[in-house]
Amino acid sequence: MMTLEDVTSLIVDVKDFPKPGITFKDITPILENSEAFRALATIFAQNTPKQVNKLVAIESRGFILASAMAQHMNVGVILMRKPGKLPRKTLSQTYQLEYGEDQLEIHDHSIENDDSIAIIDDVLATGGTAEAAEKLITRAGGRVVQFQFLIELGFLKGRDKLSSPVLSHIVL
Ligand code: AMP
Repeated sequence: MMTLEDVTSLIVDVKDFPKPGITFKDITPILENSEAFRALATIFAQNTPKQVNKLVAIESRGFILASAMAQHMNVGVILMRKPGKLPRKTLSQTYQLEYGEDQLEIHDHSIENDDSIAIIDDVLATGGTAEAAEKLITRAGGRVVQFQFLIELGFLKGRDKLSSPVLSHIVL
């Protein structure tokens, strides 16, 4: 199996995307390499606490990572989406962006009381998205036992906004 270092060496930094001053971490080269993608899914699955019974995947790269890791685990995947995408009754959580605000939604029926949840995404940046995800799952009656990210932009201190344990495979 490829090592975490082999896998992460495929990540490409794209300067000034989507706007000046942001360096975008492009993980698509990992997804395009079957060996790397399988290794990454295995590493994520192996590092998830045993009591986790559902993964919550944040749109949209979180969907890809959580779906792949779920194939190595005995868990389902809950999609946490941008507003207006989920067809049935939803619970939603508003959060602040640099300019304006955004929302995340889950299907109302997806979380059962005392579900043990790991929240999955590719990048932890300012933590606004993850904080909203944690609030939403908690309001729905779930217990967030882990956040798992491939990359954490440590200098943005996103983890300080989160109450649940954070595992990031690379901290920059
Ligand atoms: P934040 O709410 O600031 O922590 O941003 C997290 C969300 O934005 C995640 O869903 C990431 O996929 C995406 N994101 C933020 N910064 C970056 C970055 N530098 N490269 C790639 N994705 C990013």
